Amino acid sequence: NKAELYEEDDDTKVTFADVAGLNEAKEEVMEVVDFLKDPKRFTKLGGKLPKGVLLVGPPGTGKTLLAKAVAGEAGAPFFSISGSDFVEMFVGVGAARVRDLFKQAKEKAPCIIFIDEIDAVGRSRGKGMMMGINDERENTLNQLLVEMDGFATDKGVIMMAATNRPDVLDSALLRPGRFDRQVMVDKPDLNGRIEIFKVHTKNIPLGKDVDLKVLSSQTPGFAGADIANIANEAALLASRRGKEAVEMIDFQDAIERVIAGLEKKNKVINPKE
Ligand code: ATP
Repeated sequence: NKAELYEEDDDTKVTFADVAGLNEAKEEVMEVVDFLKDPKRFTKLGGKLPKGVLLVGPPGTGKTLLAKAVAGEAGAPFFSISGSDFVEMFVGVGAARVRDLFKQAKEKAPCIIFIDEIDAVGRSRGKGMMMGINDERENTLNQLLVEMDGFATDKGVIMMAATNRPDVLDSALLRPGRFDRQVMVDKPDLNGRIEIFKVHTKNIPLGKDVDLKVLSSQTPGFAGADIANIANEAALLASRRGKEAVEMIDFQDAIERVIAGLEKKNKVINPKE
């Protein structure tokens, strides 16, 4: 079933206002928004847009969110699939899915095709150990390259992809006419974290003692997804405590929980500890 793999999100309502911080990244993708709004205006002057924009940064920093916001700002459909979905596919299926994805997207252009975790499918070719699986992955990657070469940007399809491992990508993906633009989506600094806290507490009644600046200073190294998690945990804690508003102590306890959760996750990834 196709819809399990990539779906055109109805929820194209995400806008740049939902993406906190990341001002440079937003500025860089603004061009794509303008293009999607009016592709003809761009091509008239002979300008060439990047066909593919690669969003590079650690997990949970808002890469998917930013790509959705580009679609949302432009009012364009958003087709998404995760690179890791392809890897589990049977022989021949991955390449067929790629073909199908592009076919659907072209019909809905102007639109965005977003590939999350592109490294799962886009790792350098010829370096795998499990031949069977790797051959299939390579077929899928080859098909992706063929499709990217097969359409001109003036058809109005823009590819976006996300990775936290740009170093492992096959260089063919990064050539001109493919993912020829890279945008950094880094972890937020103190001010970025304040902005993210603001976005994620927008709909939460806050107690008088809540100081988002203090919370931000207590969460160095946290990604946007962690902060979203804290805001949610704090609201849950406060309601369990029968409060009408979320207070500083709820946030503080939520931070501890999220830190504990992160430590546990790191232990699983790094069993040596
Ligand atoms: P991954 O690489 O793990 O897929 P990602 O970079 O694509 O992560 P998202 O999936 O976009 O991260 O982020 C997860 C959630 O974290 C978002 O839906 C949002 O709620 C929150 N978030 C992350 N970054 C930001 C940000 N800059 N501003 C506001 N919310 C953010």
